[in-house]
Amino acid sequence: MPDLWLLAFMPVPVYRFAPSPNGELHLGHAYSALFTAEAAAHAGGIFLLRIEDIDHGRCRPQFAAQIFADLSWLGLRWVEPVRFQSEHMDDYRAARDRLLQIGVLYPCFCSRRDVMASAAAFDPEGNPLYPGTCRALSRSERQRRIASGAPYHLRIDMGQALARLASPLSFREISSGRDIIADPRPWGDVVLIRKDIGTSYHLSVVVDDALQSVTHVTRGMDLFAATHVHRLLQALLEFPAPLYHHHRLITDGAGRKLAKSLCDPSLRALREAGVAAGEIRRELGF
Ligand code: GLU
Repeated sequence: MPDLWLLAFMPVPVYRFAPSPNGELHLGHAYSALFTAEAAAHAGGIFLLRIEDIDHGRCRPQFAAQIFADLSWLGLRWVEPVRFQSEHMDDYRAARDRLLQIGVLYPCFCSRRDVMASAAAFDPEGNPLYPGTCRALSRSERQRRIASGAPYHLRIDMGQALARLASPLSFREISSGRDIIADPRPWGDVVLIRKDIGTSYHLSVVVDDALQSVTHVTRGMDLFAATHVHRLLQALLEFPAPLYHHHRLITDGAGRKLAKSLCDPSLRALREAGVAAGEIRRELGF
């Protein structure tokens, strides 16, 4: 057993569960939370909870309160304080400014309809792939449109960003024990600063994982493609690369991923129907 003071110098594995309070948690979230907490405990690490509530149009405080209630009911405990992303916009602005400074962002004035009309392919999430229309605008035209008050996103110039890298990107996938080549190109010039919320999922998650010293990112396979963008942002912002474990998704009888949008029973509904937390844990294999 090392002396206690030595522990201060030993890297502690840090894991996090990072739900968005835009609906109720269901069994897929329970699996991810239990998986992450168990991995943290197994590694002698820390389990953090982060509330990803940047999308003020879709997130609700009552869903955040429900997340605390559901996770406590499942028997989970996390290290305080809980980070609410909406309270840390300054951190995302600082990252935005850094990316602007190194010249990898550009303003995009296209509407969703413009992108739909001009896209010839789809990104890994199935959204129309931006063909880069506004990348070609001159500096004076950009300034003119900004001065006129036209709303705009900031997109990454994928070509410029990749050209800055000194070495190829990869990440360690714990589930296979393999290093995976990270290739964010299928995302094209993805939006990093949304005009409506001033940040994006990709940017906020990367900033938070770095600021919270997260060493292990455990999340569902549905976010595997996003990791390729996250590795690029970590490299550009000179953040360390966490290890990644993309776990299986909990599916319904028809093999579909459980989702809020498909009206799958929420943890609250299961609890109110008399299902015990122990039954859920056993059902999910914990
Ligand atoms: N907030 C994201 C979600 O609820 C998860 C983010 C992450 O684990 O990186 O889907």
